[in-house]
Amino acid sequence: MTVICAGCKVERPAMKRPKDGRLLCRECFYQVFESEIHATITDHHLFERGDYVAIGASGGKDSTVLAYIMKLLNDRHDYGLKLVLLSIDEGITGYRDDSLKTVERNKIQYGIPLKVLSYHELYGWTMDDIVRKVGLKNNCTVCGVFRRQALDRGATLLGCNKLVTGHNADDVAETVLMNLLRGDVNRIERSMDITTGGQSEENDLNELTLPRAKPFKYIYEKEIVLYAHFKKLEYFCTECIYAPNSYRGHAREFLKDIEAIRPSAILDIIRSGDSLQLGGKAKNKLPSQKKCTRCGYISSQDVCKACTILEGLNNDIPRLGISKSRRKPIKIQS
Ligand code: SF4
Ligand code: ZN
Repeated sequence: MTVICAGCKVERPAMKRPKDGRLLCRECFYQVFESEIHATITDHHLFERGDYVAIGASGGKDSTVLAYIMKLLNDRHDYGLKLVLLSIDEGITGYRDDSLKTVERNKIQYGIPLKVLSYHELYGWTMDDIVRKVGLKNNCTVCGVFRRQALDRGATLLGCNKLVTGHNADDVAETVLMNLLRGDVNRIERSMDITTGGQSEENDLNELTLPRAKPFKYIYEKEIVLYAHFKKLEYFCTECIYAPNSYRGHAREFLKDIEAIRPSAILDIIRSGDSLQLGGKAKNKLPSQKKCTRCGYISSQDVCKACTILEGLNNDIPRLGISKSRRKPIKIQS
């Protein structure tokens, strides 16, 4: 459709911006999209000159746009960052092997070096083998615990001092909803941080967990898809073959429904989460952190979750470390 663009005021083909409904031409959309991410990076002091930043790259839309934007903004605003793509190969035949081919191409297109690290190298197991062992119910719990640690280990191996992931506003709002529905306020607080890790007060633990930032915390998924589409960025869009009909999936559907009625709902939920974080005291109740006695990774227990899960896998006790711990019942005051 040809209308007056709300940005440049010129009559030209325009699109309705998902975040606020403004009619923008493509050039103005690029401009607001890129400058909002730059503002998030500078307002929250996500980087310092000289940082060596690992970009968690899966080949999907979020991380592909993240790699493109990090390169673009680093060059445009002279952040002075050294960038590297870091991909984790979970060992999922027909999914990750194909998406990694996309990352290989991104490496050439964006001129950013790439390191691929596999679960098999790190843990001796592929997700294909793990699913054969644990089934399709708890696979994502195992995968999530392993990936988190794998990204940290990979980035540390490369000598990086920061890690960025493509978590977007929809992901953050879904997490708020999920934890709200579970009554887990502590988790809401923790999930709102735009940078996590690397802040341990106990100095000897600092090296164990890299600061991990989310430059897309306020960026709508729909806008990431539009940007990738208009810029003709190459990404992989097939879903993991082991993706379950998870609780997150229900939260996502609910979020999409309310977004259709009120587009600002995603940002409103994030704002609520941020206010909760500012006003809450739940952080004081976080367990103290120490080093895992087996692998040295940061953990609230003597043995970290990844090592506990591995022990279960290696000893034919597949539910070890992944069965839900029972939360204390809530005391109802009379
Ligand atoms: Fe891993 Fe589950 Fe994601 Fe597949 S859907 S990559 S198994 S976390
Ligand atoms: Zn461990």
